[in-house]
Amino acid sequence: LVVGGGAAGFFAAITAAEANPSRKVILCEATAHPLAKVRVSGGGRCNVTHACFDPKELITRYPRGGRELLGPFHRWQPQDMIAWLADRGVELKTEEDGRMFPVTDRSATIADCLLAAAAAAKVDVRISTGVAEAGAGAGRPRWTVRLTTGETLRCDRLLLASGGGRSSAGFAIARACGHVIEPLVPSLFTFQIDDSRLKGLEGLSVPDAAARVEGEKLAVRGAALVTHQGLSGPAILKLSAWGARELAARNYQFTVVLSWVGERSAEQVRADFAAARAGNARKQLATWNPCGLPARLWERLLAAVAIGPHTTWSTVTNAALEALAAQVTASAFTVTGKSTNKEEFVTCGGVRLAEVDFKTMESKLCPELYFAGEVLDIDGITGGFNFQSAWTTGWIAGAALAQSPEPNGT
Ligand SMILES: Cc1cc2nc3c(=O)[nH]c(=O)nc-3n(C[C@H](O)[C@H](O)[C@H](O)COP(=O)(O)OP(=O)(O)OC[C@H]3O[C@@H](n4cnc5c(N)ncnc54)[C@H](O)[C@@H]3O)c2cc1C
Repeated sequence: LVVGGGAAGFFAAITAAEANPSRKVILCEATAHPLAKVRVSGGGRCNVTHACFDPKELITRYPRGGRELLGPFHRWQPQDMIAWLADRGVELKTEEDGRMFPVTDRSATIADCLLAAAAAAKVDVRISTGVAEAGAGAGRPRWTVRLTTGETLRCDRLLLASGGGRSSAGFAIARACGHVIEPLVPSLFTFQIDDSRLKGLEGLSVPDAAARVEGEKLAVRGAALVTHQGLSGPAILKLSAWGARELAARNYQFTVVLSWVGERSAEQVRADFAAARAGNARKQLATWNPCGLPARLWERLLAAVAIGPHTTWSTVTNAALEALAAQVTASAFTVTGKSTNKEEFVTCGGVRLAEVDFKTMESKLCPELYFAGEVLDIDGITGGFNFQSAWTTGWIAGAALAQSPEPNGT
């Protein structure tokens, strides 16, 4: 019995049922909407996976769970997912940054494919059917599962694929079976910042920023995007993922330091300024920007260090240039909270990984209890990595469910 009709639950159920048609596979989904997150994912386009095919590189995209996913990625990785979907008539395309989407640009393509595959494999999908409680006994079938419909089911093996929702009964069941749940905190959020340097720049992005959190060993590179509420973009989301625990501990009040020119050091920027001064002495700073920054941002940085719009490279003081270099390479912003990134968000925390056998996704503490997807303490950065971990852990669990010996020993 599979608890949860999300990406991981469906993929595990389909894998088990396809690999061993003699097994009866039941999937219980609490809501009336199976695969709801697949449908809303990637802004409605579903970023299914990422064009990263080396397991060693792939695992570097997971702030939690990377080490444990190395073995599983050797067995089921993005290439396998692409081929699986292609076999079922779903083609993917790769965007410049490596993210992969269905060519239709519609998440329904993926959801419909999974629903059709589950139906073809005769998975018994029960919607509006939550699992309220599950307990293991000594007899057979081992598990007694109480459903929110009032019904009680018996099954030999239980797979928890109930996602990262704090209130999910999945965590309560895992806990009752002896598992530690690593504290649940959000990952992949944007930063709330109220700062005159960003006002009116909504939608502006720089392709290569470097961001770090003051007082923490957290530093990333990537594009940064100014939003109505502060800062977002891949660099900020990465910082929120790698720092999910530290930033929660700070109650999302901290200072983020941003270099708008990720590839250049402060010395290099100072040298750029010296060259600009030598070669363009009569030009105004406002119109001659040696850093290649968007003009509106450059104007804000000049204003932040009180360099007037008509100041020329020959008249600007060394102290003002020094301050400008600091704004370009280390703009400090006070973060006052977090906002939801509507494209993708996940939960950091979940079932402790040391208690799970990643060859089968079976619990090391409670036989015939399996896990897949976000219920585990695994999460990735944005880009399709979260779904990939759901597909991979779902596939491994499904393969193990199909292969595990019959309960009567045959
Ligand atoms: C808005 C948004 C966009 C996203 N976009 C992307 C993206 O483009 N690419 C990407 O890689 N990742 C994306 N993610 C992350 C991705 O959706 C998740 O990592 C992934 O869905 C996890 O799959 P899962 O099956 O483990 O959990 P879920 O998808 O959360 O599914 C769990 C299911 O279990 C059900 N359930 C819970 N408790 C019970 C119970 N007791 N009984 C029965 N059913 C239960 C829930 O109702 C739910 O349907 C996005 C997330 C969000 C929120």
